[in-house]
Amino acid sequence: MTHPGENAASVRRASVAVRIGAVAIGGAAPVVVQSMTNTDTADVAGTAKQTAELARAGSELVRITVNTPEAAAAVPRIRERLDMMGVGVPLIGDFHYNGHQLLEREPACAEALAKYRINPGNVGFGKKKDTQFAAIIEAALRYGKPVRIGANWGSLDQSMVAALMDENHARAEPWDAARVGREALIRSALDSAARAEELGLPRDRIILSCKVSGVQELIAVYRDLALRADYALHLGLTEAGMGSKGIVASSAALAVLLQEGIGDTIRISLTPEPGESRTREVIVAQELLQTMGLRAFTPLVTACPGCGRTTSTLFQELAKTVQDHVRAKMPEWRLKYDGVENLTLAVMGCVVNGPGESKHADIGISLPGTGEAPAAPVFIDGQKAMTLRGENIATEFVGLVEDYVARRYAARASA
Ligand code: SF4
Repeated sequence: MTHPGENAASVRRASVAVRIGAVAIGGAAPVVVQSMTNTDTADVAGTAKQTAELARAGSELVRITVNTPEAAAAVPRIRERLDMMGVGVPLIGDFHYNGHQLLEREPACAEALAKYRINPGNVGFGKKKDTQFAAIIEAALRYGKPVRIGANWGSLDQSMVAALMDENHARAEPWDAARVGREALIRSALDSAARAEELGLPRDRIILSCKVSGVQELIAVYRDLALRADYALHLGLTEAGMGSKGIVASSAALAVLLQEGIGDTIRISLTPEPGESRTREVIVAQELLQTMGLRAFTPLVTACPGCGRTTSTLFQELAKTVQDHVRAKMPEWRLKYDGVENLTLAVMGCVVNGPGESKHADIGISLPGTGEAPAAPVFIDGQKAMTLRGENIATEFVGLVEDYVARRYAARASA
């Protein structure tokens, strides 16, 4: 059996550790999962509810939009409501254009947030840019908060792009436009970070991100950024998109970087399907880190894809039942059973790979394929333990999983 940590990206890039409330980002800390609400922040009840859902799904930081005086005024009330619900997740305020004013006019908002996120491309324009940027950094200093300086491809500082274009024209061998664009993004973040440090914000209160929407571009940008500075880095593919496209594109980009030890916190920027829970982005982020062996959050079910040997839906239904059960039980198990997130399960469709794969899991079941005798052998710790038959295989197998967890992890907790 393999466990998280084995064969994983072993060497993390050295970065300066930043504390956001009780959460550490960078340094030797594990990669942190974060997410963002899509409610109107002025709606205190709705935003607190969604934040709690994201936190309970496993988001370790939650970002909320702070775009109007009403939203800023709502922030301390959201914090209060979350505390009353027993949800201590740190809140990050996402500011664009008017962050300097909102932080100045709503001190309770500035205090309630655990981190400010600003975009150097739209913190202010022309002569106002420097003073408005300085006002946000001064607020961070006054309230003792870290700041993420998050440059974005879609809102680059156009004066910087123009200056870099001029610089490029003067080169004996000019770069292509994509490289100039990447350089603009990185310089925007690094120059702003240097300015923040000049204003007194220490490096251990600064996180950087440089987001683009293309997979290869994102990899190229972060590789370069990681070589040029030791700030803690937030990773994410911006505007990743919907459904499988968003998941695949984000995973493809982030996996390459994480494998190279780049990235201290991640967000999967999925567009939810209509009616879909916002928590999907948290689950995808956790599954990305877990399947890479970087962290363990929830026991994952290994299941075969099924084929012509699985003509009934029993196999798919059992795999879903087991995964849903485990995810639903995790909040309770996590409190009771030390290390239960490392549990491995297998639900397999037939005798071809079923027994072998099941033996590699802590507990696994090999269902009968088409034409096989209607019997499902169960393997526990690599040994065949029993055979299930009849109509209640799903219920009985879930019961065996419960027994296994109570036996194995309770014993560890009391050891
Ligand atoms: S284990 Fe059996 S059912 Fe599953 S994919 Fe392989 S051959 Fe098909």
